[in-house]
Amino acid sequence: MQVLSVTPEIFPLIKTGGLADVTGALPIALAGKGVAMRSLVPGYPQIMDAFKKKKPVHHYPLLQGGKASVHAVQIAGLDLFVLDAPHLFDRPGGPYGNATGADWPDNWRRFAALSQVGGDIAGGAVSGYQPDIVHAHDWQSAMTLAYMRYGKAVGTPSMITVHNLAFQGQFGAGIFGELGLPAAAMALDGVEYYGGVGFLKAGLQAAWAITTVSPTYAQEIRSPEFGMGLDGLINMRSVDLYGIVNGIDTEIWNPETDKHLVSNYTAKTLKARHPNRTAVEDRFNLDRDDSPIVCVISRLTWQKGMDILATVVDGIVARGARLAILGSGDAGLEGALLAAAARHRGRIGVVVGYDEALSHTMQGGCDAIVIPSRFEPCGLTQLYGLRYGCVPVVARTGGLADTVIDANEAAISAGVATGFQFAPADAGALLHAIRRLVAAHAHPTIWTSMQRQGMKADVSWDKSAEKYLELYRLLLSKRAV
Ligand code: ADP
Repeated sequence: MQVLSVTPEIFPLIKTGGLADVTGALPIALAGKGVAMRSLVPGYPQIMDAFKKKKPVHHYPLLQGGKASVHAVQIAGLDLFVLDAPHLFDRPGGPYGNATGADWPDNWRRFAALSQVGGDIAGGAVSGYQPDIVHAHDWQSAMTLAYMRYGKAVGTPSMITVHNLAFQGQFGAGIFGELGLPAAAMALDGVEYYGGVGFLKAGLQAAWAITTVSPTYAQEIRSPEFGMGLDGLINMRSVDLYGIVNGIDTEIWNPETDKHLVSNYTAKTLKARHPNRTAVEDRFNLDRDDSPIVCVISRLTWQKGMDILATVVDGIVARGARLAILGSGDAGLEGALLAAAARHRGRIGVVVGYDEALSHTMQGGCDAIVIPSRFEPCGLTQLYGLRYGCVPVVARTGGLADTVIDANEAAISAGVATGFQFAPADAGALLHAIRRLVAAHAHPTIWTSMQRQGMKADVSWDKSAEKYLELYRLLLSKRAV
């Protein structure tokens, strides 16, 4: 089976978030299952510099304002089509904006070009290559499905994965004339969205199947509260809507071999976590004692519920837990958390910044990780927590609800609990969960059973890749013969 993935990011070449992890991991996880996945990616400098031999397989004399070509290459074990279009992608900074973070004003043009090329390849533009299925990701490649629908590849099954519905790619109606789509596409059931052009909306409309990164988020986005204005359309498409949770890289995140840990361990040698715990106490200036260390590793934002956390820090300390917080983001939240650390020396420690190595040490040394997100399409930190015996305390939403088994009495006595869930995402429910955590931590048999159960959970890509494969097969069965 040949699958063309069209994506603005792919790990390890270019990454701003979880989307890149998915598009980088899927081809590798699917390769062993008889699926050849080739990914079409923009020729950002980071990608153009990663290959030498430039042998174009397709040329564009004019693509959105300049010359462009497509190269078939293999980099880091990934089969790629790289869209070399210097006028669109040869720019410093990140994939979407300049070094100061401001979005490029022509992002619509850049990602319409990527999508148009996706549609062309789906329609047979590269000789000798014909995908059976096209899989797009987020608004940046969503228009691929519109180009397919209004072009040659209308009969090829297509799928879109939504990693975060908050980013939709909405632009003014003025751009429509430059997209190269037929006039009929500017319609309610086409690319039109509230009088403008909606890239994600167009993809959701045209896709044969829609997936998002957890079953609970797939349900949640059907409601006005989580649907970000697209819930009406998503409800209309609900029979074609699926949720598949992300996996994690179980080699990079392996407590038995992780080089960022002071002491490696397994589910059978949990006592060997202790030196990591001491390292966390030292790094965060925490008292050395036996009370649980609850950590936070997060963007400090409203989505992540960090304002809720900030209002209950005193309550958490009062209930006997210590807090180790690593994060950056909203300046007001950074200030509030630093002030809390100053108020509670030895009980709360805060490191402002992004520190990959420290995040590993924390998962390997803290007792629990708290994730009070208001919405969470999938979430990764709770999966790392499970794998590291750092018990997750999560808001019952999205992927958090799907991956953590709450320690209610039945789950504890059946020995299946892996963490704590609370709802709604507010101060009272969070504090109640912390109280439950402190109580469970005081019972070593219950606590180690939860840690071990979490460490047994299958958080690898294998299971998720199997689900994508099932869906690809279903779509192929729907293709007209
Ligand atoms: P999101 O992508 O919405 O931020 P996820 O839980 O899906 O949330 O992924 C966040 C990723 O970023 C995880 O790998 C987490 O460990 C990492 N991370 C977040 N904040 C920090 C930080 N301050 N330092 C190091 N790693 C961080």
